[in-house]
Amino acid sequence: MLRRRFIASALLGGAGLTIPSGTAWAKKPPAPVAEIAVPIVIAVAARKLDDKGKPRLEPVVTRAFVEAQLEAANEVFKPHALRFFERDAASTLPESAARLETAADRDALASSMVSGVANVYFVESLRDVDDPKLYRMGVCWRKLSNLKKKYVIVAASAQPTTLAHELGHYLGNPHSTVKNNLMSYDRDGGKVFLDDAQGQRARKTARALFASKELVTQ
Ligand SMILES: [Zn+2]
Repeated sequence: MLRRRFIASALLGGAGLTIPSGTAWAKKPPAPVAEIAVPIVIAVAARKLDDKGKPRLEPVVTRAFVEAQLEAANEVFKPHALRFFERDAASTLPESAARLETAADRDALASSMVSGVANVYFVESLRDVDDPKLYRMGVCWRKLSNLKKKYVIVAASAQPTTLAHELGHYLGNPHSTVKNNLMSYDRDGGKVFLDDAQGQRARKTARALFASKELVTQ
């Protein structure tokens, strides 16, 4: 419909009926894409510090670290009209959540989940569950006994785009091998990006999460 109307007006208006071949006269102008705002809630684990004999709890990452991760994610997703925003203020997780060693440790975070948002947990360390010699910077985890419970875990060792990468998984994207792609491990310091197909998949997944009420707009 839209396309036909546009062609008709292109034919009627302007410089007569001579349309130079090879011009983009019949191309549909890109439709404005409505931004999808994905609500997230962040929780940061605490660790115990020995302050001159007095133990005290301190968050495993600073607020500035959290905000830098979120900003980097929004920068990568912005060209695809996706934005992440903190729906509620960040909360603190108990010390037991600081060092995640096993799959059961990761599963235990499900009890802290807030409904209607993408839950993001910042922890001190995250051991790989397949190869325990390794540590990971982040993971998009599904609770093994209830795969609908899906959340993102980011370690204090995260690189600038770790949260963005895990949110990429959260929104349905698998790994890529293209250099500097958000979903790839191959980086040379260039601008990190998502391609159009990945952006569309992320939008489609977000829409599905809203439709199933796993994400809720307030
Ligand atoms: Zn990954």
